[in-house]
Amino acid sequence: MASSAPATACIARLAADRRVHQAFQWLHLHEQQIMRWQAEMVAIAAPPFGEQARAEWLCVRFRDLDLGEPHLDEAGNAVATRRGTDATSERVLISAHIDTVFPAGTPVEPALRGSRLSGPGACDNGAGVAAMLALTAAMRHASLETAHDVIFIGNVGEEGEGDLRGMRHFYRDGGEGITAHLVLDGAGDQTAVTHALGSQRWLVTVRGPGGHAWTDAGRPNPIVILSRAIQKFSEVALPDTPRTTVNVGTIEGGTAINAIPEQAAARFDLRSTDPEQLVRLEVELHRAVEDAVLAANRGQHENSAGVRSSIEKIGDRPAGRLPGDSMLMQFLQAVDRHLAIRTEPRIASTDANIPLSLGVPAMSLGAGGEGGGIHTRAEWYDGRGRESALRRVLLLLLAVAGG
Ligand SMILES: [Zn+2]
Repeated sequence: MASSAPATACIARLAADRRVHQAFQWLHLHEQQIMRWQAEMVAIAAPPFGEQARAEWLCVRFRDLDLGEPHLDEAGNAVATRRGTDATSERVLISAHIDTVFPAGTPVEPALRGSRLSGPGACDNGAGVAAMLALTAAMRHASLETAHDVIFIGNVGEEGEGDLRGMRHFYRDGGEGITAHLVLDGAGDQTAVTHALGSQRWLVTVRGPGGHAWTDAGRPNPIVILSRAIQKFSEVALPDTPRTTVNVGTIEGGTAINAIPEQAAARFDLRSTDPEQLVRLEVELHRAVEDAVLAANRGQHENSAGVRSSIEKIGDRPAGRLPGDSMLMQFLQAVDRHLAIRTEPRIASTDANIPLSLGVPAMSLGAGGEGGGIHTRAEWYDGRGRESALRRVLLLLLAVAGG
């Protein structure tokens, strides 16, 4: 492809640069240091909306690595800057989310045996944050310079109901001047998420008068009504193409075994590669809930308190796509050719949804090594082979930042 020639030439030039070799050498020799950072960070709990201790830890690491102005922004993101040599306003971002899916109180003591780190969040996103620190350290060691400023962000709110709030906050001004954004998330060295999967999350609550299990028997039961709504919504047909999925992730409610519940609630996660499917599912969800509530109220006496429901949107991740002919994509392909990596473009919901939805070139990349048991307490990460992904990200970062 003729249009990729400048990208190929740029990567060839970077790969021949003595300082880049020095940075690669640093990465080769410091796997233990990288893993130590990872284990240290994973040992600090970072439940949704409770990331501050971890963000503060990261700020100290940023300072140790001589990044400029390490601080926590209003959203709680840890942010620092590596100044470029050009006095333009162009900036490049590299980010890794610091939050985990695990609620406060989950035991986090990670165990490090050889190259393997076990514990909640060991890979997602211990791997991404450790990679970000490794790249900073390698660039500092090799005195690598870039034309543009590189902003490093350990961001909050990627998982679950965080709803990408860390990234949303950073892009609240629309991302002006940001020419590229690399997100580091999880393990692997071949994938690149370049297509942002849209998702919507809903909280459905059903409320009733409640009462005593024996003396008030016959009053409407919100748990039963919600269950009927879930049953009906589960029967909605989902197309394979465009791939569309539905998950009921949590259900809760009730007061005691001998009380008619006053309320029941469930959370739904709807995803599709096609925004129109999400609109259709939203309508179906409302229909399922309203039908179940209507049917319950129909049987009740007019003067008895009725059943009410509310349907609240608690998450909305916008869709987006990196154009195939964008410079960032061409750089990635040139890097992967150079490193003999088979590029695997993927679709997923990541922090890159925010920049991609705003038209800022972005992708989410694996931070190397291998991981498993993601989002479970048996999560693990193995750092063997991490180096190749770090080289990949470093070359790409230097290319987009004008290294
Ligand atoms: Zn993640």
